[in-house]
Amino acid sequence: MKKIRLLLWNEFVHEREENAAGEFIRNLYPDGIHAHLARALAAGDLEIRTATLDQPECGVPDALLETTDVLVWWGHCAHDRVPDELVSKIQLRILSGMGLVVLHSGHYSKIFRRMMGTDCRLRWREVGEKERLWVAAPGHPIVRGVPETFTLPHSEMYGEPFGIPDDGKVIFTSWFEGGNVIRSGVAFRRGAGKIFYFSPGHETYPIYHDPNILQVIANAVRWAAPEEILPPRITPMPEPLEPVSTVNPLSGIDPELIHGKR
Ligand code: ZN
Repeated sequence: MKKIRLLLWNEFVHEREENAAGEFIRNLYPDGIHAHLARALAAGDLEIRTATLDQPECGVPDALLETTDVLVWWGHCAHDRVPDELVSKIQLRILSGMGLVVLHSGHYSKIFRRMMGTDCRLRWREVGEKERLWVAAPGHPIVRGVPETFTLPHSEMYGEPFGIPDDGKVIFTSWFEGGNVIRSGVAFRRGAGKIFYFSPGHETYPIYHDPNILQVIANAVRWAAPEEILPPRITPMPEPLEPVSTVNPLSGIDPELIHGKR
């Protein structure tokens, strides 16, 4: 069986901060969220690589991107340090079929906003309140083995209005102790690629230690994996398939003057 080539990308900034919050986070994720997820998701059908922002080319050189089937993205405070040029390359790869799983504060990452085309803003509050998730799409592959409802004892509140497009399929909704609600798991298709956004995952709570949360991410990786990656799309078609009898009113003008050289 062909393995799914999974790339776990983490900006890996909070985990290395020299302050009380950094220390707290290191207790939960000593080697970073990416390394923790790599261990937690390890399975025979996955070939897992990790990447972090501080690496050359932000951890995503062309050769790695071109051999990635599913990209998982965790980012928060350094979204703007990801160059637009890389975002464009990732976008093209998704449109060709690569899956994208965006976690937690990745809702505001450049790549997610690029793929959504909307502002992706939401309400938020960090007081350590309880979150209750509900499966909104029973039978969907992303909820396989996940109970209809479960709770996280402490979570960062992410709430509506959530500025995502209306074409997403809602897989989870969440209720928070303080009264807010959000579409916490939403699935999209962009070109040939599948995208899943999943909001739980604040770095100061052990959310990626929760078996239900890990099950959802594991399911999402399999769901987002492409059957195939399409070759780069070529759009010009200079020779018509059928004879064209209409006289071209611009036949005396070199088309390269208008369209440029091909
Ligand atoms: Zn957070």
